[in-house]
Amino acid sequence: MATKVAVVTGSNKGVGFGIVRALCKNFKGDVILTARNPELGQAAVQELGKEGLHPKFHQLDITDHASIIALRDFLQNTYQGIDVLVNNAGIAYKAASTAPFSEQAEVSLKTNYFATLDACEVLFPLLRPHARVSNVSSMVSQFALAKCSDAWKARFVSTDITMDELSDIMNKFIQATKNGTHKEEGFPETAYGVSKIGVTVMSLIQQREMDKKGADDIVINACCPGYVDTDMTSHKGKLTIDEGAETPVFLAMLPPGVKEPRGQFVREKAVADW
Ligand code: NDP
Repeated sequence: MATKVAVVTGSNKGVGFGIVRALCKNFKGDVILTARNPELGQAAVQELGKEGLHPKFHQLDITDHASIIALRDFLQNTYQGIDVLVNNAGIAYKAASTAPFSEQAEVSLKTNYFATLDACEVLFPLLRPHARVSNVSSMVSQFALAKCSDAWKARFVSTDITMDELSDIMNKFIQATKNGTHKEEGFPETAYGVSKIGVTVMSLIQQREMDKKGADDIVINACCPGYVDTDMTSHKGKLTIDEGAETPVFLAMLPPGVKEPRGQFVREKAVADW
């Protein structure tokens, strides 16, 4: 039988690093730590080595399509599949950022939504039966949803929204921020929040698409790690990276045949309202 493999995006530091550490301890197979910067990735692998943990490294910048393809080819050649995929890589502008809102919208959505979607589209064909996908979104997606117009809210929670429609709405948001009309068009004043609405809704759609294809027990969920002490939060978060890893890893390790959570948004290891 092929060796099982778990892959974590953006895992040289922060929550992703905590996820790799936990998977090295609990997942029966190889764990791939990925980073866009190979030096940072190798340093993270060495740090875990000092703890007696042995993830393998592969470069991955999710905004670089060729880099995703190279990872896919490596996984295909070495493992002939994927058993766990944790889409953790993400960015956030600081509250104090002076970058124009339209720039924040474009850049945040490019990485958090469009690049995550691209990684999924390239890597999903490798998912084996019983594979688990854990998409790291945020509770901010819930807060942002609450601030959308009723019309957008209805689309984001509908069970018939397609990925094309979702991507189209994400592009409409970017365009609206450029026109300065995002508020009157019913979008909230948070680029990160809209990008994470995208990640949450993407995950729900992905489960429905898998089910339609008749995939064998492939389970995809979105989650929030909680408020974690990382560079992203300027170390204001209260949870350690190991605590932040708990919910994403819980989703990565869901047992065979699990009925719930499945195609849902999860906080503190429990299904949350969407
Ligand atoms: P960090 O900023 O500490 O780490 C983010 C990681 O993502 C880094 O490894 C970073 O690499 C990587 N990354 C960024 N862009 C890319 C890219 N294009 N390709 C590949 N990797 C990339 O953030 P956190 O650990 O705090 O956040 C992890 C996830 O959790 C994010 O999705 C975030 O939105 C989410 N989250 C975090 C919360 C928190 O309280 N911390 C709360 C809710 C959600 P590099 O080192 O090169 O920058």
